Amino acid sequence: MKDLSVLVTGGAGFLGSHLCDRLVEQGAEVLCLDNFFTGSKRNILHLMDHKNFEAIRHDLVEPIFVEVDQIYNLACPASPVHYQYNPVKTVKTSVMGTINMLGLAKRVKARILQASTSEVYGDPQEHPQKETYWGHVNPIGLRSCYDEGKRVAETLMMDYYRQNRVDIKIARIFNTYGPRMAISDGRVMSNFIVQALRNDPITVYGDGSQTRSFCFAPDMVDGLIKMMNCEDFIGPVNLGNPREFSIRSLAELVIEITRSKSEIVYTPLPEDDPVQRCPDISLAREKLNWEPKVGLAEGLEKTIDYFNGVLMM
Ligand code: NAD
Ligand code: UDP
Repeated sequence: MKDLSVLVTGGAGFLGSHLCDRLVEQGAEVLCLDNFFTGSKRNILHLMDHKNFEAIRHDLVEPIFVEVDQIYNLACPASPVHYQYNPVKTVKTSVMGTINMLGLAKRVKARILQASTSEVYGDPQEHPQKETYWGHVNPIGLRSCYDEGKRVAETLMMDYYRQNRVDIKIARIFNTYGPRMAISDGRVMSNFIVQALRNDPITVYGDGSQTRSFCFAPDMVDGLIKMMNCEDFIGPVNLGNPREFSIRSLAELVIEITRSKSEIVYTPLPEDDPVQRCPDISLAREKLNWEPKVGLAEGLEKTIDYFNGVLMM
């Protein structure tokens, strides 16, 4: 990693900032590009004085030229609340942003990893999901700007690979959580923890029987770095924790760990909310020798500690 120059788009976001930390720690020279839509300077403040770290405010929809060896393309709002705020911009970020990064990778001969998502499987009819599954995505729904944007980003990656021999990697990230999620992020983990710590009602959408599988951020960062640095395998590869939980059981667990007085309230299920989601990670185990190490209870404790600190500020 030493002497490698690495670009992280979306580097001031939740996952991106953990990735920047790890890359700097490993001796890489890291350039973070972010438009600070959902990311924040606070996430990278501790890196600002580091000699190997630099941040630039830049919107990925606009081209940029920098000399780098590797590009992690993470820029894109990931929470439904934020990606649906300006859906056209979300599509632009995934499509034009990925074209800009692929053009850059082609020009400077960098390796590029695309942060794809389990959302490419939509509301899956195959369970658990394998990389060979083509998905079940509504192309005209409220989630489409994100899901279809990410699917086109995968298409672009493959076409630049086939047409221009760009050195690509595709990682399909499943629900990931941890410290530095924004309080206003809107995804289930931060919502439940913040609600529990404030003794506010816990908002379970639908009846809470829908499932998700939650990966702790440091495990995900390990997976992303292993994928970027492996040879002879471009993916796509699923990265996620294969333990599956219902949203209702997550609410109960958060209440138990925080010893909260919160009650669970049930509100309508958003449109096209996937019923179940769980990664088959056989390929990541085989090709990357990777699997998550941190279980939900342990990851939750650490994330709750973080939010406790933020709420006390
Ligand atoms: P996040 O919203 O915290 O981070 C996204 C970052 O991208 C933010 O810093 C935001 O300001 C930046 N950004 C958004 N649009 C931009 C643009 N046009 N130009 C420049 N920067 C822009 O979300 P996250 O959870 O850290 O997700 C990071 C990446 O991982 C995203 O691409 C997301 O789709 C993918 N992913 C995350 C999860 C998860 O559960 N965390 C799951 C699947 C995929
Ligand atoms: N969810 C919920 N309450 C919330 C936020 C989310 O019940 O306050 C549910 C949501 O309907 C979905 C699951 O939790 O079934 C995960 O939602 P999130 O937005 O975190 O991610 P995604 O749906 O994109 O996996």
